[in-house]
Amino acid sequence: MKENFEKRPDFSWIDKEINRVINNIISKKDLDDIYNKVQGLENGGFSAEGMTYFLEKTKNSRIDLNNLAEFKYALEKLSYPKDYVAQYLSHENAHANTSDSIGAKHLGYSIIIFNDNGDLIVRQITRTEFPANWSDKDIAIASEKIATAPELYEGQKLSEGDNEMAKRC
Ligand SMILES: [Zn+2]
Repeated sequence: MKENFEKRPDFSWIDKEINRVINNIISKKDLDDIYNKVQGLENGGFSAEGMTYFLEKTKNSRIDLNNLAEFKYALEKLSYPKDYVAQYLSHENAHANTSDSIGAKHLGYSIIIFNDNGDLIVRQITRTEFPANWSDKDIAIASEKIATAPELYEGQKLSEGDNEMAKRC
């Protein structure tokens, strides 16, 4: 172990990202409208067009994190209790491991912060890149496996976002 010699990670950019998103806070209704539009674009299945639209429209409300350490820092910074953070780390890790195990590429974790009647709510998502030669059907099957991973491997409940994702496949 050489951890004593490692430079302390600098997470100050995440503080700035949290401020940026909170200063542009999106309402639950506007976020729901984006999800509905994506479902319309995807017409019941997964599509790259839907994902591109989603990522573009949530840009001001989303923080992209590269690894579990950054994800953990962000949740703690947002004052989530330790139990919650631990549960979500293992939840998102199940999505990530499944992506990698079926040949998709896990790109990282994102959080979207929105305002629900005055409460700040955080929704977690994982970002995945699928091989260019996969068909829409391949991607749909893979997306369902990734979405339901926490339930299968961790015995955890799926989040609202996971259920939406699984239903679409
Ligand atoms: Zn999930």
